[in-house]
Amino acid sequence: MKINILTIFPEMFTPLRESMLGRAVDNGLLEFNIVDIREFTANKHKRVDDTPYGGGAGMVMQVQPIVDAFRGSGMGGSVFYMSPRGELLSQEIAEEIADMDEITILCGHYEGVDQRALDILDAREISIGDYVLTGGELPAMVLIDTVARFIEGVLASEESAMEESIYSGLLEYPQYSKPREIEGMEVPEVLTSGNHGLIDLWRFEKSVQLTKERRPDLLEKFVNSDRELSKKQKKILEENTK
Ligand code: SAH
Repeated sequence: MKINILTIFPEMFTPLRESMLGRAVDNGLLEFNIVDIREFTANKHKRVDDTPYGGGAGMVMQVQPIVDAFRGSGMGGSVFYMSPRGELLSQEIAEEIADMDEITILCGHYEGVDQRALDILDAREISIGDYVLTGGELPAMVLIDTVARFIEGVLASEESAMEESIYSGLLEYPQYSKPREIEGMEVPEVLTSGNHGLIDLWRFEKSVQLTKERRPDLLEKFVNSDRELSKKQKKILEENTK
């Protein structure tokens, strides 16, 4: 998948070179084309923003540098503009984007972007949550990271993307690793029993309990979904939802 990024702070994208994403680039699964909008400005002082028509606080990113950067640097695919007024990012949106071969992400700054740039690029607005950040670079990396998890070969095993919190419909059960005891706290006995049937049920029950406590909205959706559950799972769900 080719991911084009339009930004005025290209140096902010170093995290994409680390860890799983860095490996995905090395393996040819992901390609980043990060372009500095400022390099395309026709303004002799290298400006990319100006005051808003109609007045008001702050500055607005102008059309020309953005559109010329897009057209002049081999960008294509669907365009996404990171914006607090966009659709709320979800697993469903991430999966949908992961199916695309190429996308372009526009990162805003200041008060945002001249509407005509969004119209020319036919940009779809995506928000990462109901709070406002100073720029679209961190949101773009959030989008890229969650999309990358759905690209085959990026995660170590295919399975793990499906078993995670949210995706499975429930929040994840508590995890434990070595040592078996630390500061007087032991790993729950069932996890060391070697009985995988019991372990799965224990994890399912913990997931249900945690989801009930923290995200009753998700639990309600889970209960009303047509997921296939075993008899034992159904019993656990009933006991924990009454
Ligand atoms: N005046 C704008 C906010 C500008 S914040 C408004 O009220 O809608 C500056 C930039 O940060 C935005 O252009 C956008 O690219 C990015 N940004 C801020 N909060 C965001 C969020 N929750 N999700 C995605 N992008 C966000």
